[in-house]
Amino acid sequence: MACTTGLLAEDCATEHWCQALGGHREKGGWRADCPLCRASRAIEWDAPGKAVRWRSWCGQHDRDALRPVLRQLVGGCMPGRPQHRISAEDLIALASRDLPKTAYRVAMLQMAGISPREARAMLKIPESTYYDTLRVLGERRR
Ligand SMILES: [Zn+2]
Ligand SMILES: [Zn+2]
Repeated sequence: MACTTGLLAEDCATEHWCQALGGHREKGGWRADCPLCRASRAIEWDAPGKAVRWRSWCGQHDRDALRPVLRQLVGGCMPGRPQHRISAEDLIALASRDLPKTAYRVAMLQMAGISPREARAMLKIPESTYYDTLRVLGERRR
């Protein structure tokens, strides 16, 4: 269940998503303006199953560009990612490591359930830095 308060997908779409994005109900689902450029009705979502499903109609911002923004807005109600509980032990272990700054950022995002590849896009990490970072973190290349 991808909702912070455990609502059914349709209620989450109505309450959490509409509130976070300033959306409204339309025929096939819900629509809101693009949170980045305010393109009218550019974000669409519906709730056909257990999670909210969304897509972008914005000419300037595709799903990859919008995913991190939506995650900030709707938080744990984003679909497709299990809820992660971050433990104090994990944080302490991470803080105790001697890592380059980018590696910390990637490791922190990883703790939040974001893959290194996605983190790379979010943080706009250059390719060579990315592979160095994976090596430092002991991740296999992907
Ligand atoms: Zn929700
Ligand atoms: Zn846009």
